[in-house]
Amino acid sequence: MQRVASTIFSHRMPGAIDLPLLQNTAELQVEAQRYGDQIVVRLNSNYKSGENDRIPCMLKKILIVEDEPALQDTLSYNLKREGYQVIVEGDGIKGLAAAQEIQPDLIVLDIMLPGMDGLEITRILRQKMNVPIIMLTARDAEIDRVLGLEIGADDYLTKPFSMRELLARVKAQLRRDRLIRDEVMTQSPPSETALTFGNLSINLVRREATINDDVLHLKPKEYDLLQYLLEHQGKVVSRERILEQVWGWDFGGGSRTVDVHVRWLREKIEPDPTSPSRIITVRGVGYRFEG
Ligand code: CA
Repeated sequence: MQRVASTIFSHRMPGAIDLPLLQNTAELQVEAQRYGDQIVVRLNSNYKSGENDRIPCMLKKILIVEDEPALQDTLSYNLKREGYQVIVEGDGIKGLAAAQEIQPDLIVLDIMLPGMDGLEITRILRQKMNVPIIMLTARDAEIDRVLGLEIGADDYLTKPFSMRELLARVKAQLRRDRLIRDEVMTQSPPSETALTFGNLSINLVRREATINDDVLHLKPKEYDLLQYLLEHQGKVVSRERILEQVWGWDFGGGSRTVDVHVRWLREKIEPDPTSPSRIITVRGVGYRFEG
């Protein structure tokens, strides 16, 4: 095996390197080398089994489906530099095949593609895969964004976007995906019926929300909306989707209803309702609960 790169990894790269054995090692710094799609880690701290243990770690795999060569290169370069394994396809049909074959940990998916468009790919993948999908959309294509989120994309970026923004979204999606997996693996017992983010908590059985253990006085629809947002933490949810899920298809009111209820909720859960940090407005689409 040929040595490709040598890097000192720290907690700066939690998404790229998974070291379950080392969870309790404080202030851990490891030396890692990449061989193909593997990282080999050398430990330099007081790891008990001895110095220079080598633990192979699989890199997180990210599939990029994008037909613009310049953007392919930039995305690929930046994601590799963060320690991800990157696979690039420039055509929709090949992209779909690659997604099914390599089972990536995350997909960055352009909408306008030769062969098959990103919306169709998402629709097909969602029938059997839960892989996080970040869509790339053209400016002013609001309809694509809404549709993409409706059919199961997890997030989107509007071109042109900064690489810093993209990397932040990638990390957020991988972290969220891992939390969900951990939850499924630990199979929360039936009595576990609370969702908690910081000082905010809701009890799903009592339909009760608290901040710092103080009960909030919420109208039924405010509670329903809050629960829906918390259950989709980190995801953009469109007004239309919220209306459908919280108020139901037959609801006669418009999406203004959602905005009004969000405003009421913000007054109850935001430290500063005039500058929301928990329920974020995603312009042209809807809302995202940050945590
Ligand atoms: Ca394109």
